[in-house]
Amino acid sequence: MWFSKSQAEVLQELQVNATNGLTTEEAKARLEQYGANRLKGKPKKSTIALFFAQLKDMLIYVLLGAGVVTLIIGEYVDAIIIFAVVVLNAVIGVIQENKAEKAIEALQKMTTPRALVRRDGEVKEIQSELIVPGDIVILDAGRFISADLRLLESANLQIEESALTGESVPTDKQADDIHPDPQTPIGDKSNMAFMSTLVTYGRGEGVAVATAMETEMGKIAKILDDDNKELTPLQKKLEELGKTLGFIAIGICVLIFIIALIQKRDLFEMFLTAISLAVAAIPEGLPAIVAIVLALGVTRMSKINAIVKKLPAVETLGSVNIICSDKTGTLTQNKMTVVKHFTEPNESLDKDKAPVELIKALVLCSDATFENGEGTGDPTEVALVAFGDKNNLNKRSLDMEFKRVAEKPFDSDRKLMSTLNKMENGYRVHTKGALDQLLQISTLAYVDGKVVPLTEEMKLQYLKAAENMSDEALRVLGAAYKDTDHIISADEMERDLTVIGFVGMIDPPRLEVKDSIREAKLAGITSVMITGDHKNTAVAIAKQLGIAESIEQSMTGTEIDQLSDEEFSRRISNYRVFARVSPEHKVKIIKAFKAKGNIVSMTGDGVNDAPSLKFADIGVAMGITGTDVSKGASDMILTDDNFSTIVHAIREGRNIYLNISKSVIFLLSCNLGEVVAILASILFFWPIPLLPTQILWINLVTDTLPAIALGVDPGDKDVMKKKPRDPKESFFAKGAGLRAVIGGLLIGILTLVAFYLGLHEFGYSLNSENIPEDAMMNARTMAFVVLASSQLFYSLSMRSATKSIFQVGFFTNKYLIGSIVTGLVLQFVVITIPFLASAFKVHNLSLVDWGLVIVLGLIPLIINEIIKIFIRSTKTGDA
Ligand code: ATP
Repeated sequence: MWFSKSQAEVLQELQVNATNGLTTEEAKARLEQYGANRLKGKPKKSTIALFFAQLKDMLIYVLLGAGVVTLIIGEYVDAIIIFAVVVLNAVIGVIQENKAEKAIEALQKMTTPRALVRRDGEVKEIQSELIVPGDIVILDAGRFISADLRLLESANLQIEESALTGESVPTDKQADDIHPDPQTPIGDKSNMAFMSTLVTYGRGEGVAVATAMETEMGKIAKILDDDNKELTPLQKKLEELGKTLGFIAIGICVLIFIIALIQKRDLFEMFLTAISLAVAAIPEGLPAIVAIVLALGVTRMSKINAIVKKLPAVETLGSVNIICSDKTGTLTQNKMTVVKHFTEPNESLDKDKAPVELIKALVLCSDATFENGEGTGDPTEVALVAFGDKNNLNKRSLDMEFKRVAEKPFDSDRKLMSTLNKMENGYRVHTKGALDQLLQISTLAYVDGKVVPLTEEMKLQYLKAAENMSDEALRVLGAAYKDTDHIISADEMERDLTVIGFVGMIDPPRLEVKDSIREAKLAGITSVMITGDHKNTAVAIAKQLGIAESIEQSMTGTEIDQLSDEEFSRRISNYRVFARVSPEHKVKIIKAFKAKGNIVSMTGDGVNDAPSLKFADIGVAMGITGTDVSKGASDMILTDDNFSTIVHAIREGRNIYLNISKSVIFLLSCNLGEVVAILASILFFWPIPLLPTQILWINLVTDTLPAIALGVDPGDKDVMKKKPRDPKESFFAKGAGLRAVIGGLLIGILTLVAFYLGLHEFGYSLNSENIPEDAMMNARTMAFVVLASSQLFYSLSMRSATKSIFQVGFFTNKYLIGSIVTGLVLQFVVITIPFLASAFKVHNLSLVDWGLVIVLGLIPLIINEIIKIFIRSTKTGDA
């Protein structure tokens, strides 16, 4: 019962020293003994179960029904082909699902939480899975706790334990409490912290007492295992489209059957025709192809440092027209260095002579470390501690001399942090933070070694000096103090302080960001900076990066508060920089942008950023500096925290959408072509040009490869020269629907032409009676090969709606060329290998016929290319 023991007992039992933690060897040994700190997920679906899950689909039911009927009629070869296609379809489905799952698993691994532990006397960040009992774990706000801990230290520590207790109000934790009652409920164990709960405020340290399945979370075995089966809006639309087409097909089948009954046609033949039509109308491969294209796209995005957590984000990315970004770390390098300081009377500019009091306050009121040239912790604080080091005020020795006894942690609403340190006589509060905030809570000033009242005039002087530094893009951080003779509570710390002065630090902009902002601008996307930092600093950096041109384009949080929501959203388009904002302002900013019909992406890293990340169309979390909460609430995570990655992700998102649209339009053209050929022959009382098995073969074998190849098209170089896509825009907009219709008509008509020519070679026409079997076979073979080859060639033309295949680059999509060649070879194989040929009721073609079908097959491609020339000459064209 860890909660009823003292800290010393616990440490003793776990054989660990709290100051140094475990040694690396000991941790390794314990990892072997206790295993990885990981909850066991629910068992994976077996391949067999996955296989059967694939069969639950309306088209498959239609096919199975057709298979059974053909079996009863005695058409065994057809039945075998139909069943083989069903099995093949399911196998492809299983493979794709596995691949997609693997991709998602790999992404999840990249986002597993990390934990801060003390080992070998140093603080290290490790994967939570590597935590072992006895590890000393450090807790800070926004972090998920990765094992059950007995707390050793707590500073205003609050933990939200709803995952375990259902209670969403955070509980206060006290490391020094001891609960002798063994029945203490989990919610009351104030000296413990549990796996999967979340630090919402403060700081703490604890020793891991249980890991993996031994934790409270493991015992409940309630696994946070959300099924990541979210469909994107496009997928949903396509699913509906598929269903509609299915119903239409079934309707037409029934109708044909009735007509056949009335016309007293051969029932069996009409049955086969009805099935041909159903098979022709339904794009079987479509959902699987879209899923695989999305999965491949998401994997590709992870390689450029953007991890997409929610699949719909891929589509939304293509519509983003406003990127709201934090400044520090995303637009800048987050490598801060103190370069200036200021104290009264004005003795700034000489950085080597910063007064001891100023540095002492800043260093004591920091949690970062800086040793042997290496810093850990918040870069702002690392800069301060490094500054101390340079001035011979080492953090470790200062900490030992003036022990910290209490603190009030930094939060981005107050923009302040305070510590209470034990001094020679009594105690001293050290506060650091935004100068404007600091001046509001100060009444005195430290001037030339003396304490004097802080007059309004002096305040202005401080602010003026700070503004000058800000104009040079420096981040300004002030320091103040107050003495007391006893330990005071956190609430009493930040009032009646004595201002000492401030420092200015540079944080250079990221070099690549300027280009990305320009690229975004060309793509119709506005970049907006949102920061907790001072307005002038923010604007100075925004100007360097090309986000804003003047200070008029900036607004502070206070100014936002003075406007009504309506007024704010009316004026928001005039602003590019929002400074001194708190997390709630972010929500207000997104709301205002969204009210104007914009699609907004928003970055966030802090604990309080979750609401704005959820509220944005695309919530972007920081992979390196982001808290676990912000990552949880986001749609996408940047593994490099870099603004440019957002722009790259948008480019990828646009390309993925375009590629999916190419695949879908291609597949629909193919299906339409088949429907046209069959429907026309029914309407005109012609023989049916294609058998169901032939259509199935083409739909599932020949078409699938080019469709996937189109889905991984290298993408249009000019995709970022166009305006963002309107999310409400129909999938068939911008001529896409027309392209499908034209392609479909051409493919259908040419198939019929080939069929006619095939009959003609044997001296028959479409209206001849009693056509013999060999003439039919010849005509169907011609139709079959023309259908396949025209679709294969047509796929080349689908790569761009306006650019010619040569402008796009004939060989730039090697997969497509490969799949066209494979498709033609397969077609050749089917008609030349005797047993396949007889199964599909086709025969080998003469050289002349091959020439003829290839020429016919090229026509849709050629006509589409001519249409493109026409489009290009009339307008510059887009899409
Ligand atoms: P961004 O929102 O672009 O990341 P930011 O890092 O400046 O910008 P915050 O971290 O919210 O935003 O900081 C806001 C302000 O709070 C800073 O300008 C600074 O004055 C102050 N501040 C930042 N870090 C600390 C800290 N560790 N201790 C005290 N004050 C801080």
